[in-house]
Amino acid sequence: MPVSSTDLIHHGYLPPAGFAGTQPGIFKASTVFFPNVAAMRQFEWKDKSAYTYGLHGTPTSYTLEERLCTLEGGLQCLLVPSGLAAIANVSLALLNSGDEVLIPDNVYGPNKALAQGELMHWGISHQFYDALNPQDLAAKITPKTRLVWLEAAGSVTLEFPDLIAQVRICKAAGVLCALDNTWGAGLAFAPFDLQPGAKMPLAVDISIHALTKYPNGGGDVLMGSVITRSEALHMQLKLCHMRLGLGVAANDVESVLRGLPSIKLRYTAHDEATRALAHWCQTRPEFAQVLHPALANSPGHRHWQVLCGGGPGTAAGLFSVIFKPDYSQAQVDAFCDGLKLFEIGYSWGGPVSLVMPYNLASMRAGWPAHLAHGTLVRFSIGLEAVDDLRADLAAALHLLA
Ligand SMILES: *Cc1c(COP(=O)(O)O)cnc(C)c1O
Repeated sequence: MPVSSTDLIHHGYLPPAGFAGTQPGIFKASTVFFPNVAAMRQFEWKDKSAYTYGLHGTPTSYTLEERLCTLEGGLQCLLVPSGLAAIANVSLALLNSGDEVLIPDNVYGPNKALAQGELMHWGISHQFYDALNPQDLAAKITPKTRLVWLEAAGSVTLEFPDLIAQVRICKAAGVLCALDNTWGAGLAFAPFDLQPGAKMPLAVDISIHALTKYPNGGGDVLMGSVITRSEALHMQLKLCHMRLGLGVAANDVESVLRGLPSIKLRYTAHDEATRALAHWCQTRPEFAQVLHPALANSPGHRHWQVLCGGGPGTAAGLFSVIFKPDYSQAQVDAFCDGLKLFEIGYSWGGPVSLVMPYNLASMRAGWPAHLAHGTLVRFSIGLEAVDDLRADLAAALHLLA
């Protein structure tokens, strides 16, 4: 008799327990089985004491959540399908009709778009504040303010805010603050201990992170995290996360688990190469301004020193240049097209260097006084040999002569 499909599905074999390898196993699930009906009724997913459904967590997702808490100094973590979904999870969980959210003027663009789209449609208002002026943030907090977004450094113009003053202002006003910590990645500074050694730890309430960038590191996975130290806040975020169905795929989680052990080495390598190239760009006559928080004349450099300093300090793999205004958009585009090693593409944190021109005028209400006039180009520095990248930049600049 040929085998019955039942015997293939309900197979009795269980491998011996205790397998140990470098990477944890991958557990994939929509359905998970309960041993009996009583267990089904009793099992609780909210405190992670049992498994009930793939969307509610698996050994694989729990493992990454714990490691990310270690990376950022948090206590509870949620995984979401992208960095942007992490932003949406926070704003949708915490804001109600009639509330207002404050957002830095140099924030990651889609955070603004969410505020101007869905949040506005649902009766949630927003104001943009000057990321370089804590007094502007303080002045914009009203009784309607429910949430303040923070970002250090701004993702295109890389101004570094006085994060410590900003968080203090939020605490004094009793308003929740959520940090987009993608740039710092848990490595440049500790979001839940902004002043190491202080008697009372100064912490953001929530840290979100595009794991798409450095934690994964391959440029091939989208994922985000939402980390807190407050159980009550975590539960509010988690219930919204569950209702929205923000599941992540186990194979993607595995990619991030593989990337995480080398994150510090990669971040350091990106940092060193980026600074070398930013310094070199400062010597070039084509640029009116080079934006990188570790450069002494970059906006917010002093605040970067305080938060990420100590020795040479720590920074991520991004810098931007503003071309002198005598270079036309067409010339700047030709420069970007002329680069051979830098690919034209969004995102960052992977092995391949990237370049992207930005239309700053369309991103800000007015041209910021601290930025030179001209076309802005952002570089994400990958893991190629820095001499090759410098030669590539020089060759593409030569096309402008
Ligand atoms: C990339 C990025 C995000 C969004 O991440 P995705 O995974 O691409 O959605 C959010 N914030 C910052 C600062 C980012 O750089």
